[in-house]
Amino acid sequence: EPIIRLEGLGKQFSTANGTVTALEDINLEIKSGEIFGIIGLSGAGKSTLVRCINYLEVPTSGKVIFQDKNLSAMSDKQKRLARQSMGMIFQQFNLLSQRNVLQNICFPMEIAGTGRAEARKRAEELLALVGLEDRAKAYPAQLSGGQKQRVAIARAMATNPRVLLCDEATSALDPNTTKSILQLLKRINREMGVTVIVITHEMAVIEAICDKVAIIDHSHIAEVGKVSDIFSGP
Ligand code: ADP
Ligand code: ADP
Repeated sequence: EPIIRLEGLGKQFSTANGTVTALEDINLEIKSGEIFGIIGLSGAGKSTLVRCINYLEVPTSGKVIFQDKNLSAMSDKQKRLARQSMGMIFQQFNLLSQRNVLQNICFPMEIAGTGRAEARKRAEELLALVGLEDRAKAYPAQLSGGQKQRVAIARAMATNPRVLLCDEATSALDPNTTKSILQLLKRINREMGVTVIVITHEMAVIEAICDKVAIIDHSHIAEVGKVSDIFSGP
């Protein structure tokens, strides 16, 4: 059963030099519990695609259907709840530099109106999940890249999302740290049943953890299928 369906999704940007088409007629089905990869060259439309999935960008045509509901037909409140069901992590981590690790993880819960004590308890559990119990009081500047991404993952999981959107989440990390972050994403998928969507320009990332993959090329889906079928060996 699909958790996300994209139907004829399109996105254009108006710029000083005219219209840029970032996505055109994207049709895609992502099943609950999958680790789904989206791979393509720089400028292919990957970031725009994930940002349309959680409505950070509003599509110019087509539909995003999340848990059988059309996002564009949702009330603002329903959209907010849908967004809380989709955590997101980024290449540059996007942590709040003036807040310590625990406060960063509590932030989305504050926005969602979770009580302080409950938020703190959940944040501590999430710190344990990502293996950073001993860094609760540290500030982002004191952390390594891998540790920052672990904090960002804990923060993304704070509202108990059903989907985790990862936009080039390991592109700023060295190979060993990349491996440990990918293993953490896999654990979150397997143990918590979270659907993981991985945007990358690196084949190795897809091969390491994805069940299915879509290749995006010049705003279009060029191919989609099982990783083993699409990237078969010689
Ligand atoms: P990718 O993530 O694959 O590198 P993007 O989704 O970032 O690709 O970009 C796809 C296309 O859309 C590119 O041509 C890019 O320049 C353009 N684009 C993305 N965001 C904007 C924006 N806010 N305004 C104008 N053009 C944009
Ligand atoms: P660094 O960026 O310093 O290389 P990592 O991101 O690899 O750090 O790891 C950060 C912390 O998480 C370390 O304390 C490490 O021991 C711990 N850790 C590494 N892998 C896992 C894992 N799979 N599950 C839980 N904790 C882990």
